Amino acid sequence: MMMKNICVFCGSRPGIDPNFATWAYTLGSQIANNNQVLVFGGGGGGLMGILAQGALDANGQVIGIIPKQLQVQEALVEHLSKVHFVQTMGERKQLMDQFADAYVIIPGGIGTLDELFDVWATAQTGFHAKPIILANWSGYYDSLLSFLYQCVENGFVSKSHFEKIQVVNSQDELMQALLPNLKKTMSAGIST
Ligand code: AMP
Repeated sequence: MMMKNICVFCGSRPGIDPNFATWAYTLGSQIANNNQVLVFGGGGGGLMGILAQGALDANGQVIGIIPKQLQVQEALVEHLSKVHFVQTMGERKQLMDQFADAYVIIPGGIGTLDELFDVWATAQTGFHAKPIILANWSGYYDSLLSFLYQCVENGFVSKSHFEKIQVVNSQDELMQALLPNLKKTMSAGIST
């Protein structure tokens, strides 16, 4: 599958680990260098702003989708290739879905988790079959993944639905997964 528009979900805060900012910036520049378009939440704060800056500095195209209410806090929006203003968070997710060919989730908080579960739940119910790549940088999502595997063991999540996300454990693995036209290899790291 040709992945053209890469929708990235990430923290509106930078987090404590300085590597996350470095890797977010590199992710933005790689998307641009792959001639892919970055689609993101439009915010200028935290990893979101750093990611977008990485893509913009590499002369990439960046589409921001932002609820009007949040826009007041955001300075970055002025520099984006295109900004779509929407009314609600729900409308934003819908528009992000329309643009996205693939989803990448890097470290973040509640907003990021909400976005991860939204695209995962819609994949589970068959509304889309787009790649969902979870960047488990420095094991950030380890305990979430082990809880989710516990959900599988408890019979609330099927193994095949669990495996609808591709977990990458390093920046290098993420870069490989994003290469255009690369055949999708799915693994959520479960041993059978
Ligand atoms: P969080 O992980 O709670 O920091 O939320 C980040 C995610 O929620 C991003 O992927 C955005 O889509 C959205 N979001 C949260 N806060 C903002 C903000 N101030 N501006 C734009 N988007 C935001």
